[in-house]
Amino acid sequence: TTFADLGLSPELLKAVEEAGYTEPTPIQAEAIPAVLMMKDVLGIAQTGTGKTASFVLPMIDVLANGRRRALMPRSLILEPTRELAAQVAENFEKYGANHDLKMALLIGGVQMGEQVKALNDGVDVLIATPGRLMDLFERGKIMLNACELVVIDEADRMLDMGFIPDIEFICDKLPDQRQTLLFSATMPAPIEKLAKKFLDNPKRMEV
Ligand code: AMP
Repeated sequence: TTFADLGLSPELLKAVEEAGYTEPTPIQAEAIPAVLMMKDVLGIAQTGTGKTASFVLPMIDVLANGRRRALMPRSLILEPTRELAAQVAENFEKYGANHDLKMALLIGGVQMGEQVKALNDGVDVLIATPGRLMDLFERGKIMLNACELVVIDEADRMLDMGFIPDIEFICDKLPDQRQTLLFSATMPAPIEKLAKKFLDNPKRMEV
């Protein structure tokens, strides 16, 4: 399989080339076409497998092809830690450099002012840790009802960190008509249950 076989746009193929990637990793070969076909995805994959690009690349194409929804974020990526969220944001900026997509990084440990300002200016994608996202939501600073493409990344780490109730709270605020991608290195019972509850007939892939 080559990147060109996966259905990515010419702009994204260029971004991939600029990143120096010659061929897709196994999770990318499976997840990218599924995301572009608007399917839910249950990806069992660890860090280091190219998992991040497997959702960031097609997400950029989906957002670029979709319509702006005024100031409301259209997608959400949930990460268990600030570091992971910041890394995903870097990936998003790198692959999306040729696109006019706006992103807000919503993590704890930094002042809320800048984040609220970014939200007020309008963003396409939220990259967040659950705690800060919930905090901003409860203060009425975030609308989640236009988030039609959602990624729950590192779900087993979310479980270890006690974030499952937060994830459930957040998912309940999302629109029913949406596409959900869940990635986890392992699939303990509570994650299977979460996937069953929030994913709709997902394409399951394990690498
Ligand atoms: P991740 O599993 O998302 O943390 O990615 C691990 C590393 O693999 C990152 O440094 C990526 O830049 C790199 N990477 C992602 N996709 C590819 C690819 N198709 N070919 C080579 N390296 C890649």
